[in-house]
Amino acid sequence: MKKNIAVLAGDGIGPEIMASAIRVLKAGTKSVSTEFEYVEYPFGGAGIDAAGDPLPDETIQACQEADAILLGAIGGPKWDQAPKRPEQGLLQLRKALNLYANIRPITVPDSLLPLSPIKEAIVKGTDFVVVRELTSGIYFGEPRSLTDEEAYDTNRYQVHEIERIVRKAFEIAQGRQKRLVSVDKANVLATSKLWRKTVERIAKEYPDVTVEHQYVDAAAMLIVQKPTTFDVIVTENLFGDILSDEASVLPGTLGVLPSASHSESGVSLYEPIHGSAPDIAGKNVANPVSMILSATLMLRQSFNMDDVADQIEEACYAVLNEGTVTRDLGGTAMTSEFTDAVIEKLS
Ligand code: ATP
Ligand code: MG
Repeated sequence: MKKNIAVLAGDGIGPEIMASAIRVLKAGTKSVSTEFEYVEYPFGGAGIDAAGDPLPDETIQACQEADAILLGAIGGPKWDQAPKRPEQGLLQLRKALNLYANIRPITVPDSLLPLSPIKEAIVKGTDFVVVRELTSGIYFGEPRSLTDEEAYDTNRYQVHEIERIVRKAFEIAQGRQKRLVSVDKANVLATSKLWRKTVERIAKEYPDVTVEHQYVDAAAMLIVQKPTTFDVIVTENLFGDILSDEASVLPGTLGVLPSASHSESGVSLYEPIHGSAPDIAGKNVANPVSMILSATLMLRQSFNMDDVADQIEEACYAVLNEGTVTRDLGGTAMTSEFTDAVIEKLS
């Protein structure tokens, strides 16, 4: 069977970490019967340069027809004055593909413990997933208004939008430690009251999963105070944005954190949580782990290839453990050198 992967390398360090991840994927899947085809399409700033559009028609069509999408990173100072910004392409793509579920695993492997700004006794063993609603809530609610005198946004959730993200989180919890924390502000917000009520109703369908409700302010504190107490966190768009960025502090670098975005039945997209890091672009010094782990999420979540994903993940951690680490982790290894070491482990 053949799998078509739409590759959107994008801008800044995007093309470098994408090249690394694809080399690792090719090495990791060499002996499986599934054949992978990787085809690159212009996107973001690269889309503007190639076709005057951050999301060219050719790219959106290829994404809709692909079996999975790998995205590097987009944006950079070069397009600050462009009539259409690279970021618009990403919002358009998420909307067009209805990518409502953003999944961000936050793990701190032992090799990264010395880098975490949080004490080792607190952060050791951190391994949880933030499930963020991505296509509704205050980012999209109408009406909204901004004048010099007054401004307002609308936080709106329809019950079906809550149901589908909550079910997704329960399913993820079932495959893990079966502990779900739902984060809201139900003491204040109407949307949160509906959220909590919906979580309680859906919970009856998953009696094997324990559910706890936390207010977002308490959750924000616990994420850095007791990160190992979490298994799966589910929350609305705005809270998810803030909490998952907060959680990225735990491993001590942005360069190791992947994400996956899913729709109800269509294609999924896999990308690092960081941006295009223009300050280090083109220097072969970026940490490719975020992109490689995004690729392993693709293997697991789009293709049920957990074995290969495990092997790639273990190879990455083994290389980190041996001290072959990039600059963001205090090392001197180049992107290509780290990649070579991972491929060596895989063979
Ligand atoms: P965006 O607005 O697109 O999110 P940003 O301004 O928040 O971008 P990032 O691109 O996420 O910035 O990078 C933040 C910092 O982290 C940069 O200084 C960058 O060098 C560093 N960084 C991000 N990703 C990596 C990586 N994969 N390897 C090494 N350093 C990284
Ligand atoms: Mg950022």
